[in-house]
Amino acid sequence: MNPLEYIAFMILRTLRKLHLARLIRIGKKHNFTDYFKNFEKVQAVRGIFGEKTEEILGNLKVEFMGLFGYMGVDNSDGHLLVNARYLDTGDKIDIYLDIIHELCHIKQYMEGKDLFDGRYEYVERPTEIEAYCYTVKEARRLGLNDQRIIEYLKTEWMSQSDLEKLANYVGIKFETA
Ligand SMILES: [Zn+2]
Repeated sequence: MNPLEYIAFMILRTLRKLHLARLIRIGKKHNFTDYFKNFEKVQAVRGIFGEKTEEILGNLKVEFMGLFGYMGVDNSDGHLLVNARYLDTGDKIDIYLDIIHELCHIKQYMEGKDLFDGRYEYVERPTEIEAYCYTVKEARRLGLNDQRIIEYLKTEWMSQSDLEKLANYVGIKFETA
């Protein structure tokens, strides 16, 4: 299996598990490793947590949200928030990259960093730039080209100039049409 196929497989397995669970109670915290299998073996994840990977993922909780958004980290105790519908309908590679991105935030949270530092705009915030840089490095390793990575970075709530800024920060040349 090539890396992209493997990732799609990992995410699909997560989805199957979600469907099996049928009644996922919104707001209840679950064990990350009950849903997201084999992430402790992913090199990009080990690159974040090192030897503590198993321990940290073993303790990580995940909460499935129902309505809006993609993924995030809860600022009160550092658990992962995942939109169950996004998991169901989103692009598998995007989902994988989002998980890597959020795990970077989990590490930052554990280091005591403020993930929602209001002194910065979203695309200027050091914790975001660090998480995006790491995620883009993984995207490149998987063979995604710059255009595909820009597609990944783009969200409906990000302005064009913010997108260009972010692309610039993570080292992607932005070609304007
Ligand atoms: Zn982020």
